[in-house]
Amino acid sequence: MDLEKYRGSEYAKILIDETYSLLDQVPSQLRLMEVCGTHTMAISRSGLRSILDGKVDLLSGPGCPVCVTADRDIDLMISLAKIPNITVTTFGDMMKVPGSQGSLSQAKANGGDVEVVYSPLDAVKLARQSDKEVVFLAVGFETTTPVIALALLEAERLSLKNFSIMVNHKLTPPAVRAIVDTDTVKVDGFLCPGHVSSILGSDGFAFLADEYSLPAVVAGFEPVDILLGVNMLLKQIIEGSPRMENTYRRVVRKEGNKVARELVTKYFVPASAEWRGLGTIPESGLSLREQYRGFDAMEKFELEVPSTPTVRQGCSCGAILRGLLKPTDCGLFGSECTPEVPVGPCMVSSEGACAAYYHFERRVRV
Ligand code: SF4
Repeated sequence: MDLEKYRGSEYAKILIDETYSLLDQVPSQLRLMEVCGTHTMAISRSGLRSILDGKVDLLSGPGCPVCVTADRDIDLMISLAKIPNITVTTFGDMMKVPGSQGSLSQAKANGGDVEVVYSPLDAVKLARQSDKEVVFLAVGFETTTPVIALALLEAERLSLKNFSIMVNHKLTPPAVRAIVDTDTVKVDGFLCPGHVSSILGSDGFAFLADEYSLPAVVAGFEPVDILLGVNMLLKQIIEGSPRMENTYRRVVRKEGNKVARELVTKYFVPASAEWRGLGTIPESGLSLREQYRGFDAMEKFELEVPSTPTVRQGCSCGAILRGLLKPTDCGLFGSECTPEVPVGPCMVSSEGACAAYYHFERRVRV
């Protein structure tokens, strides 16, 4: 497919017309899943769903790192903020995420030392200037992990003894595999994440086509990128020819980012991880290598994993992250749960499906 044909708004109409034509040919109602919170937000913001309505359901998968973080991990972060002589540093998205014992914002209001930083390198800088222990809450997918590894490299170079991280990294392909393997929702094709694929390479999700005969397309984040990705998925379905395709070649190369992957491998090894809604998935997270355990806040401060249930009562985030429900199916959506007073992380995060629906699709959906 000639991608350049679709660059610029004058071509959007061509693409939309092509999509309508393809929709007339699809055999039945289809379910396509996006696995990236940025896609989720862009889909809601652009109104793409309305073009596909009636023929294609766009489901949001486990594509928001804040949303998939389990309650007990959030509780651990909050317990860390209560320890004297520790400064907890985090990306801003984590501040309002409720655990079973409140949020980091509340911990800060109650006297905890919690600082928002824009990069883990800022946390290293803070540690360098501080007498206190500085812990960075390392939450994120393959795109975030390299910069955290870079922070560890810098901390190592500076021989910092008061810097550590709480590791909550997640790896996206095992979660997608878990959805395909175990879920009751039949997904007809996957819109694969552009950012993650820029690290993994364009074949990072090729197992979907190779092992499960599912169409898979890596897409960028402009509305035309996403519509083009959907368009290509529809073509694969109509042709009965599932394969891995990449529409985001201006960013995603076949080999991905080898330097970033090597840096991550220097510090981390795959480990099992708990995902909100999906449970514990083998090899779907990371842990620090033995020789770098000095950077592990869990060990350094001898933290115990609390027995918090993974999903809070009344919140359907877990089912939404598996594509089983839409945000508007949750009884709390827009009433007890809003971005101002969120009940679950999917309403807090700037990449959360509930927040996307609340901000951009509430009027037409409720
Ligand atoms: S609307 Fe709120 S309570 Fe319902 S699933 Fe979303 S975050 Fe959870």
